[in-house]
Amino acid sequence: MIIVLVGAPGAGKGTHGRRISAKRGWPHVSSGDLLREAVEKQTPLGLEAVRYMKAGVLVPDAIMLRWVEELLDKPEYADGIVLDGFPRTVPQAEGLDELLERHDLEIDCVLFFDIVEESAVERLASRISCSRCGLIYNLVTQPPPESNECDRCGGTLEVRADDGRETIHARFIEFRGSTQPMIDYYQSAGKLARIDTRGGIEEVGARVTAVLDGLAGRKAPGSGAG
Ligand code: AMP
Repeated sequence: MIIVLVGAPGAGKGTHGRRISAKRGWPHVSSGDLLREAVEKQTPLGLEAVRYMKAGVLVPDAIMLRWVEELLDKPEYADGIVLDGFPRTVPQAEGLDELLERHDLEIDCVLFFDIVEESAVERLASRISCSRCGLIYNLVTQPPPESNECDRCGGTLEVRADDGRETIHARFIEFRGSTQPMIDYYQSAGKLARIDTRGGIEEVGARVTAVLDGLAGRKAPGSGAG
């Protein structure tokens, strides 16, 4: 099963991506988390990507397509994958379709987490996440441990460098300009499922579950999978 998660910053892609992965066993791959890790480790990808990320703009499509091509060759993603944050532009979506076609695969569903900018700014202002595994805490609704260490992997918790108000605004402008046309692309292809992100995590999670259960039912009729 190949699921793509799309949404503006703060829409909840990371949180729900991890929940989908835990529930259904498909690995969750966040392009943002992997890029941040690459920057921290100063890999060739990280060195190429860092200046774009700091500015809150997208890393060029050619770099991202090279990244996903290497990723899809890994055996651990053969049974399914939850792609979070990639693709983000029409050329990335087209490039991904071509790559998948070569592997005789296709995207099953694109979940679009829809959020308005004011709500996203409010959410991101209280977000703190693990610098190592990306686990997200919320200072109000899901406070981090006092030790400031991640419950899951022991990594250091920090406010993301690109979660400042101005950078969030830049990321929204980028989203409207580059990602909205990609959403239209998937809508035309009949792959898009819009998720209303109003309400708490459980409420939004139930909407995601309803979509994915419907999909599993269609893919393997009578299996009740998912
Ligand atoms: P995210 O954690 O998904 O918000 O991503 C953080 C930053 O990583 C973005 O602002 C971009 O600079 C970069 N990035 C992540 N995914 C992509 C992508 N698919 N295409 C281009 N840049 C990306």
